[in-house]
Amino acid sequence: MTTVGLPAASPTAFGTARLLGGVTHGGRADLTTHRRVHGPQHHRTLDELAADASRVRLLGRGGAAFPVATKLAAVPVGPRTQVVVNGSESEPASRKDRTLMTLTPHLVLDGALAVARALRTTHVTIAVHDEAAYASLRAALEERTRREPVTGRVDLHRQPAGFVSGEVRAVLRGLDGGPAVPPSRRTLPSVSGLHGAPTFASNVETFAQVALLISLGPAEYAAVGDPEEPGTTLLTLLGDTRTRGVVEVPTDLPLDALVPGEGGPVLLGGYHGRWVHDVVGRTAARPGLRAAGLPLNAGVVARLPRDVCALAEVTAVARWLAAQSAGQCGPCLFGTAAAARDVGELLRGRAAPAVEARVAGLVRRGACAHPDGTAAFVASALEALPDELAEHRRHGTCGRPYGGVLPLDGAG
Ligand code: SF4
Repeated sequence: MTTVGLPAASPTAFGTARLLGGVTHGGRADLTTHRRVHGPQHHRTLDELAADASRVRLLGRGGAAFPVATKLAAVPVGPRTQVVVNGSESEPASRKDRTLMTLTPHLVLDGALAVARALRTTHVTIAVHDEAAYASLRAALEERTRREPVTGRVDLHRQPAGFVSGEVRAVLRGLDGGPAVPPSRRTLPSVSGLHGAPTFASNVETFAQVALLISLGPAEYAAVGDPEEPGTTLLTLLGDTRTRGVVEVPTDLPLDALVPGEGGPVLLGGYHGRWVHDVVGRTAARPGLRAAGLPLNAGVVARLPRDVCALAEVTAVARWLAAQSAGQCGPCLFGTAAAARDVGELLRGRAAPAVEARVAGLVRRGACAHPDGTAAFVASALEALPDELAEHRRHGTCGRPYGGVLPLDGAG
């Protein structure tokens, strides 16, 4: 397989590159390469595209893993409808979407334009804050203007960085000139999204998967991967894993092929994800993970090395998550900060008797998923790290240093 711009794993371990097809030695696939690998752009009617997406059980590749066919069916067809590619990738530990935008921008554009054509609209907007991704998409649009005129209008927008700024409703609000924070009312984008119009919004990998589905056809698309979620997916690996960075894997790949042997605890799904002791018996397919209470979200898999303090890593991220609150919902603003303080007390070996109630009190208390995600991150750490907690309780420290394995600034 091909990995990009990152240390390579065993080249044969993870199967054939699809999303990353045409990417060699970390180089960007230009329009010529893209067309050689994926062929000319074909379009599908809405019914055809929804049927194909349903046949391969295509799920969104952001946080919610919503079925693409259902989302397509929920958006009205017509020229007012908007298509929004959420390229904000606000999860600091994730690099997959900016990898796609930077190295395979034409696959993302093919997918977005195909969705727009199926919905019979010409309005495509891409929100992105990463400069390299922005420049690559801009260059891709210029290539197309010269070589094969774009069949719709594609607007590239710079989006402010920030964890909650990547939530889809925050993105839409920012695109409309407002603050890039989630609105207090939970309105579905399919009903009222960009400019108040019905909007099909999804993350970057989802659109790339749509392009791949059209290019391969559903039978070939589904020839690899888990029957519950066929195909491949992108993961970002960090810490003590077989390789680090962005990898494309068939969805039925056992995760212990990526996170082998004995080691520290594993974080699945990033900073709104869950801590587990190990990943034995788990694959990269979202349905199976979700059924086990383990959302894969943006596809982050992090394994802490044994020689760093896991509780210090958890505390650093909990503090960072508290600082990300947009400050407009009281339980989120005060509750995430209090939970982070409690975790800090546990790190020092002190008691924090209210921590579990504090975390439980965050659930469903905000206008967005930030309090729930923070609660899941902290609660699962308390469950998955009993030995580390006991060590800190007994000695005030585990003696291992903070490693800074989990990045805190990647959203910027
Ligand atoms: S829950 Fe938190 S992050 Fe979400 S909108 Fe409210 S204050 Fe902002």
